[in-house]
Amino acid sequence: MKLVFATGNKDKLREAREILDGIVEVVGPAQLGVFEEVEENGLTLKENSVLKARGYRALCGLDCFADDTGLEVDALGGAPGVHAARYAVDVARRDGLPLPPDHDFSANIDTLLRELSLHPGEPRTARFRSVVTLTLGGGLHFFEGTLEGSIASVRSGSGGFGYDPVFLPDEYPGRSVAELPQEVKNAISHRGKALRAMAQWLKQNCNL
Ligand code: IMP
Repeated sequence: MKLVFATGNKDKLREAREILDGIVEVVGPAQLGVFEEVEENGLTLKENSVLKARGYRALCGLDCFADDTGLEVDALGGAPGVHAARYAVDVARRDGLPLPPDHDFSANIDTLLRELSLHPGEPRTARFRSVVTLTLGGGLHFFEGTLEGSIASVRSGSGGFGYDPVFLPDEYPGRSVAELPQEVKNAISHRGKALRAMAQWLKQNCNL
């Protein structure tokens, strides 16, 4: 079965291909000549995931799945949450500072570490949460995955992407996700869990 992964993020595309290998042929929008981006202006992960799945379904003319991921940090009241991709921009705007570029991983991590430094002595527990929406047969189907851990005070590792260099998963104490081999990240990650749940559903419902 061929499905479009509704994302322009090359790292997410690579991970989805690895996780769904042998089950789903994962195609990126660019392979179909689609370079438009779908605006993510929903208030929740589910809303954004639906916006991307429906938006790319219309642009590509094929069934799609989309992932929206948030990072919830307990000491920050669940921030950056659904706004994880533009956290540095949101905080700079709040503080009246010059705006960094949107989707800048390094600026987002700097902002996260700075905001957490304002909460000394508080637990640094956090989680990634992914909501995957699949468009199939005219309906929408939802799958979720989480990864529990905590936020380090400095970066380590060079793998992964996004917040991986400062996220310490509970399963591997003292190591950031960026220090884990990619197959280990895929085995424990929020996205891995959500996409394997989707694969299981496809096997049961589509005779894969
Ligand atoms: P979105 O799902 O593309 O909106 O991602 C939200 C933000 O979370 C972006 O800044 C991503 O880089 C970050 N992010 C998404 N997935 C991961 C991941 O697996 N590890 C680290 N950061 C991630």
